[in-house]
Amino acid sequence: MTTSILCQLNGGCMGCCGHDFVSKDKIKQAIQKNTLEFKNTHPRTEQEFLAFRDRRPAMDLRNGVCRNLIEEAGCFFCPLHQARHNGKDLRENHCDTTYLCKTTKEFARWNDEKKKAFVSFIEQKKLDNITYSMKMDKGELLKEFQEQLPQNLYK
Ligand code: SF4
Repeated sequence: MTTSILCQLNGGCMGCCGHDFVSKDKIKQAIQKNTLEFKNTHPRTEQEFLAFRDRRPAMDLRNGVCRNLIEEAGCFFCPLHQARHNGKDLRENHCDTTYLCKTTKEFARWNDEKKKAFVSFIEQKKLDNITYSMKMDKGELLKEFQEQLPQNLYK
């Protein structure tokens, strides 16, 4: 498993598209600049997507954010992801495509009832996508959810 439904919630999570995030505003600025560069490049072929990816080294982050992360209609996504290239993952050899945060790993072990409760818990918070991402990255939502559960529920 290399993805989770949690990665798609709240307009898309970008919690693992970078690290050492500075602030919400700095993340927003970085994604806006990435999106502008992507639009200006306007890649269509695989080679053009790879040229966009390789315009800077993988670890050359922008305000802690991967330079490939962009936004479209309020949702974050990676234009190199296999979902956009008929199963061919253009992120290979550029980022850790198998990484999953602690929250998604825990979530995968839960029964359907507990999973549903966690998704509702997240939805009720009505977080914007950057706040959601930062909280997922830090494991804060998982911690909060576990703390408010009555003992032995879902065991
Ligand atoms: S931080 Fe977790 S939920 Fe967010 S994209 Fe990464 S694996 Fe998915």
